[in-house]
Amino acid sequence: MPLLSEPPAWNGGGWESVEPVELGRSALGNSINLYRANPANLLVMGGVHGDESEGIFLAHLLLHEQPAVPVIPCLNPDGALLRQRWNGHNVDLNRNLPTADWNPEPHKARYPPGAAPSSEPETRAFLSALERMKPSTVLSLHSFRESFVEIERPPETLPAEVNEAVDAFVEAAGIVRKESIGYPTPGALGAYGKDHGMLVLTYELRRGSSHGELHAILPHLSAMVERLAAIRFEG
Ligand SMILES: [Zn+2]
Repeated sequence: MPLLSEPPAWNGGGWESVEPVELGRSALGNSINLYRANPANLLVMGGVHGDESEGIFLAHLLLHEQPAVPVIPCLNPDGALLRQRWNGHNVDLNRNLPTADWNPEPHKARYPPGAAPSSEPETRAFLSALERMKPSTVLSLHSFRESFVEIERPPETLPAEVNEAVDAFVEAAGIVRKESIGYPTPGALGAYGKDHGMLVLTYELRRGSSHGELHAILPHLSAMVERLAAIRFEG
């Protein structure tokens, strides 16, 4: 087993016990990898925004902790390598999904949605993973100035087992649960999930969390992942 201090292997290799499937290539030609490409209830994803390395790191740790759960550790390898939010075409991948609310006009310059829904190869790679595995829940790891779990559905509309898993996690992590990030996000994964009856959890890690802090979160996150992976969400 590789040492955890080794750099994440988001271009493949290094994780000898798990062979990745290449979902596609990024705008700059980097592999977008899915580990454990089998039908599953839950898909975990990191690195939609390339400069949010906290989630990329945790996604790799989860590969070890939860050997049955499918993981895309880094959807946006170009952004990760360039240390930027956007992909190699300078598009915000979390505004590029084919949702009913997709909008060609960015809410702010920070959120360029691309020329059209699914215009980006990373978006199409993600959609191919959904097609392949038909997860009913997606957990996407991001970073923000404060940490919380966002689910854009009222708790009373969710199965009790989902609420219990999420509430146990946020309590253990000392964070809150929200129904909105507080500003419009057309073309984002949450909207896509609502369009398609898929449950979406966005976990915003505190930007700048140390690797030690992320290791401390890992057992709690792993416990939530295990519980969510056992639930077939019916949206
Ligand atoms: Zn993000």
